[in-house]
Amino acid sequence: MLKNIKDFDLEELKIELENIGEKKFRAEQIFKWIYQEKVISFNEMTNLSIELREKLNNNYTLGIFKILKKQIASDGTIKYLFDILDGNAIETVLMKYHHGYSLCVSSQVGCKMGCKFCASTGIAFVRSLTSGEIVEQILSVERDENIKISNVVFMGIGEPMDNYDNVVNAIRIINNPKGINIGARHISISTSGIVPKIYQLAEENIQCTLSISLHATTDEQRSKMMPINNKYNIEELIKACKDYISKTNRRISFEYALAKDNNDNLDDAKRLVKLLHGMICHVNLIPINKIENGSFEKTNNENIIKFRDYLNDHGIVATIRRELGSDIDAACGQLRRKNLK
Ligand code: SAH
Repeated sequence: MLKNIKDFDLEELKIELENIGEKKFRAEQIFKWIYQEKVISFNEMTNLSIELREKLNNNYTLGIFKILKKQIASDGTIKYLFDILDGNAIETVLMKYHHGYSLCVSSQVGCKMGCKFCASTGIAFVRSLTSGEIVEQILSVERDENIKISNVVFMGIGEPMDNYDNVVNAIRIINNPKGINIGARHISISTSGIVPKIYQLAEENIQCTLSISLHATTDEQRSKMMPINNKYNIEELIKACKDYISKTNRRISFEYALAKDNNDNLDDAKRLVKLLHGMICHVNLIPINKIENGSFEKTNNENIIKFRDYLNDHGIVATIRRELGSDIDAACGQLRRKNLK
């Protein structure tokens, strides 16, 4: 079977090339062709000898995705459905902000977390994506739209911390100045709260932003929304977050999706203030998107503004996330794996 050349970060590619009898510096040349010139075939790598190109063709693939579907929302958000070449498909969403282009990437085909409000739940988990498949989402969109993406968020399908090694490796490629060259502070990993992996991430030498999908302030509430809370409860989660902040000195972003009569009243806001007291953090409030057969309803705008104001008045920086792409099912929690046939 051909190896996907995008599964290697730069250091790994150097070793791989040495193993096949090539010079290390070829790795940088190949990296440049892949991530800066964005070529789709080894034959375009014209500063490599014909023999080497042949060797690459015989042993490796560039894993170029096929676009199965491209939908454009009224606000300009674009949702892609990619054929990832093994009969599976994943969704990736491109959002246009005033500061540039942000890409919401998937980390797995399906998801095991089972969050009750999320459309990725309910379709069987298939497998984790490789690093190459994670970075190819960025390259495919950049090629298709002829743009440079400035922010990458791991908020598509899947739990990035359940595919930790490949996600971290992909971040190394995304962040490398010789790779996709996106600053670590413009890369966010979002997690439902896999506590041991939060401790592990704190030890990595990467400056990406960590987002925690908190969504509730009591274990009773949170376990009803997110089964992972039965494994790692709020207390353990917050303890890991505090450790992360003290080790990295970086701000954590907490995601809080408000559902009507569930987690959206002032008592919730009060508990949230207590829970996050003293932490360097930011709260992102999201009006929950109702999914097919879902039991959670969207909070009204007034409520969400009250909730935000309460947090802001009590020393917690909170903003309401602008909803993008909802008319094409591309907004938060609406992504799902679509079957090919
Ligand atoms: N598994 C990761 C990343 C994918 S979900 C995580 O849980 O963080 C990306 C974000 O969208 C998470 O904060 C998730 O809780 C939120 N989300 C999921 N479904 C949603 C919905 N229906 N409405 C609003 N936000 C939702």
